[in-house]
Amino acid sequence: MTETVCPACSSTHIKLNGHIHNGKQNRLCKDCGRQFVVDREKRLISDSDKALIAKLLLEKISLAGIARVADVSQVWLQGYVSELYAAQPDDLHVLLPTKEAMEAYLEDRFDEHVYKIEALKKRCTG
Ligand SMILES: [Zn+2]
Repeated sequence: MTETVCPACSSTHIKLNGHIHNGKQNRLCKDCGRQFVVDREKRLISDSDKALIAKLLLEKISLAGIARVADVSQVWLQGYVSELYAAQPDDLHVLLPTKEAMEAYLEDRFDEHVYKIEALKKRCTG
């Protein structure tokens, strides 16, 4: 837990000052009178943390697991995943085969299976 610092004057003479509407702890700077709420979600997540998270996302690890390992909140992680997702091009640069090419490919596979089945039949019936 790091020491709370006043966002206005950087004083560390802070006292608790009740709670705000959403239940978060309110604080009051004894030096300048500024009231503020410490929001842990707003802490800066470093680029190296983000790089690590991006790597972890490629593994089959749950978001909850990544959040624990990288020490970020699941809410932040969800937002980050959405951000990464939105940054991807819509087509992912994938070149889809034409319908004709796909049909030719499937026909070939079909023929292969038919051939295998015929061979098996022949073996069974001697
Ligand atoms: Zn202050």
